[in-house]
Amino acid sequence: MTYDDRAPRSQELFARARAVTPGGVNSPVRAFRAVGGTPRFMASGQGPWITDADGRDYLDLVCSWGPMVLGHAHPDVLAAVRDAAGRGFSFGTPGEGEVALAEEIVARVPAVEQVRLVSSGTEATMSAIRLARGATGRSKVVKFAGCYHGHVDSLLAAAGSGLATFALPDSPGVTGAQAHETIVLPYNDLAAVEAAFAAHGEDIAVVITEAAAANMGVVAPEPGFNAALARIAHAHGALLVLDEVMTGFRVARGGWLELEARADSSWAPDLVTFGKVMGGGLPAAAFGGRADLMAHLAPTGPVYQAGTLAGNPVAAACGLATLRACTPDLYPRLDATAATVGRLVSEALAAEGVVHTLATAGNLFSVFFRAGAPRDYDEAREQESWRYAAFFHAMLDHGVYLPPSAFEAWFVSGAHDDNALDRLVAALPAAARAAATARPDSAEEYA
Ligand SMILES: *Cc1c(COP(=O)(O)O)cnc(C)c1O
Repeated sequence: MTYDDRAPRSQELFARARAVTPGGVNSPVRAFRAVGGTPRFMASGQGPWITDADGRDYLDLVCSWGPMVLGHAHPDVLAAVRDAAGRGFSFGTPGEGEVALAEEIVARVPAVEQVRLVSSGTEATMSAIRLARGATGRSKVVKFAGCYHGHVDSLLAAAGSGLATFALPDSPGVTGAQAHETIVLPYNDLAAVEAAFAAHGEDIAVVITEAAAANMGVVAPEPGFNAALARIAHAHGALLVLDEVMTGFRVARGGWLELEARADSSWAPDLVTFGKVMGGGLPAAAFGGRADLMAHLAPTGPVYQAGTLAGNPVAAACGLATLRACTPDLYPRLDATAATVGRLVSEALAAEGVVHTLATAGNLFSVFFRAGAPRDYDEAREQESWRYAAFFHAMLDHGVYLPPSAFEAWFVSGAHDDNALDRLVAALPAAARAAATARPDSAEEYA
């Protein structure tokens, strides 16, 4: 029996999907290319569990890539969404819900005095970059290899997981002119940042960085790295965008910035981007920062930015209910659950003698099949990622849904309870054995 025989309905749906959608998916990593086999078409979710079209349930360690921080179909969030939907879906006018969501964000993140709501993380970073260019009158952007900021043209150079998975150096369709304005540097390398500013300081509008890199697997910023980026950028009249789309409202109530401020509160980024958790599973994202900077945006300023569905009342209700349920007691629970999952996985792999490293940044974590935590993209790619395909499929077979790529973070939620961990514990021994006995060509077995 192959793994796919266990998912006949997903197979049927994948065939239908491939006829009408490129590769059968609306976001590339969902296609299982890195691990082989048929993607599971999910039909429902409840708490930490998701159920596929064949009626099999899985412990969910993807959580929609972050947004489902409370688990699926959380009762308070569901009630808020039903209530908002019952009052109409979209008006194209301002509404109270989007104000309340903006207030919640501003209250949680001291560096953010004002926010503009958008519909995806991509839009948030794209708009933040435009605003930074508009406000500084400069053109160049500094980003770090392995950091992903959505599929913004100028930010698609060396952009981590999706591209790491597909081994594409860059995307066709991004013009030389767009790429030319982007300077890509190694993550955690301040000497490279100093050198870039020494060479191009007058032209650099902005440095953008993930608050903690988690799209090449999890690679934590070294202590003081983000603060130094702010210092160097500001010394040259440039701005810093801290991308908290993944970390925001997940690693702490106030995001990664709250963790940084506990060690050093003497600095702040100019702009911050959010998405994922702040939408609670519906499309809502945001960018924000100092009020004087945000004033450059239309209609108060000349930098144009807009959205038909921006601040959508149903999405805003979902995001607001999610953030309100992200109470201070949630975060220690997320930290503990993430630590437990990481420890269990690491122990199981060690028991089978599999060389690996559990990499963490706050409660974000991922497993690298290499010795030692990587500090940049080159090191992150130096791993036996082929072991991951065997590990992934054995876990899937035992009812645990992991990210279908070795270059992605894993996610837990407040709903991941002891029952959920029991499923993980039961699945791990066979998966660790599969990782131990995998060969470099074994991904093909699942294809
Ligand atoms: C997911 C992500 C994005 C893109 O968000 P989308 O909503 O997928 O467009 C941007 N930055 C980071 C750090 C992300 O993790």
